[in-house]
Amino acid sequence: MSDTPVAKRPRMDEVQPAQDQAMDSQPEYQRGDIWFEDGNVVLIAQDTTFRVHRGVLSNKSDVFSGMFSVPQPENMEMLDGCPAVHLSDSKDNLTHMLLALYNGDRYFDLTVPLPFHAVSAMLQLGSKYQIDELKRAAVHRLQRHIPSHLEDFVGPYRTLPSRGDPLISDFVDEHAIAVIDLAWRHELHALLPPAFYACAQLRSKALAEGFTDPAGVHWKLSRKDLWRCLEGQRSLRTQLMFRMQFLWDKEVSPTCAQSSWCKERLVLERGRTVTIQLSATVYRALEDSGWIETLQLCKPCTDHFVWMHDGIRQDSWRRLARMFQMKDIVTWPVE
Ligand SMILES: [Zn+2]
Repeated sequence: MSDTPVAKRPRMDEVQPAQDQAMDSQPEYQRGDIWFEDGNVVLIAQDTTFRVHRGVLSNKSDVFSGMFSVPQPENMEMLDGCPAVHLSDSKDNLTHMLLALYNGDRYFDLTVPLPFHAVSAMLQLGSKYQIDELKRAAVHRLQRHIPSHLEDFVGPYRTLPSRGDPLISDFVDEHAIAVIDLAWRHELHALLPPAFYACAQLRSKALAEGFTDPAGVHWKLSRKDLWRCLEGQRSLRTQLMFRMQFLWDKEVSPTCAQSSWCKERLVLERGRTVTIQLSATVYRALEDSGWIETLQLCKPCTDHFVWMHDGIRQDSWRRLARMFQMKDIVTWPVE
C-alpha cells in the first residue's frame, strides 16, 4: 500500500567492504502492497519488497518449501531483520500471487471477474512455483472465454463467453494472441485450437503486429503461429462454404410442407448471405445453427438444414487442430 522507500539494513557481513559497496549501488527498494510486520522473509521483485511468511509460502508451494529448507548462507542479505530473497518475477505478477495466497477470495471466487493481467500472473507464477490451485483457477477463467468444448460455442464467436458470465473483465478478441503464447509456454494444449480459431477472426493488422493489452504487455504471434493462423483461415473459409451449401442447392427437404415458399425463402437468403453475411462471417465455421431458425422455412426444412449444418459444424470442430497444423501436437478434440 505504501511507496515509502525501505531503508536498507546492512548485510550481516558488514566487515566485507566490497560487498557493501556493491549494495550501495543498488536502487532504493519500494515497499510492496503486501507487508506483514510479523513476516519472516522479504521477497524482492524488481525494486519492490514484500514481507511475508515462509510457512505460508512453503505450505502452498513445494518450490518455496525447497528454497527455504536450504540453509541460509551467513552473508545473506537482510532487510528489516528478515532474510531477503531476490526473485526474477515482475512486481505486478508477484503482487497478484501473494494477494491470491493471503486474500484469495477474489482470485478463487469464480463469480468475480478479474482483469487479464491478474489471470496471466496466476498462470505464470502458479506454474513456476507449482501452486496448482492458482494455475487451475487461471485455466478455468481462460476456458470460459476460449472454450475447449463445442457446446460452449453458442451463437457467433464473441469475446464474451456464450455460456456463463465473463470471468475476465477486460477480455477482448485480441487476447487470443496472448492465450496462444501462454498456452505454449505452460503446455495448455487444449486451449490452442480454440485460441487459434479466435485468432483467425482477428484483423490482419493484429495478426501481423500483435496486441498491447490494457496492462501494457505486448503480445505477438510467432512466425510459425502466424503461418498456422493463415493456413487455418483458408480451411475455415472452405468449411463455411460447406456449411452454407444448402442455400445453393436447389433442393428443399424431402419432407417439405410448402415447397414453393421454402424455395423462394432460400433464394432470398442466398442473396442476403452473399451480400451481407458472408464477408462478416467468413471464418466463423463454429457458428451455431441459430441463424437457420430465422429463415422462416417450414419446420421439416428447418430441421433438415439444421441437422446438415450441425454435422458440418461438428466436423469442423473435430478438424480444428488439423486446420491449424497441430494435429501431431495436440490431442483433439479433448474429452
Ligand atoms: Zn420446406
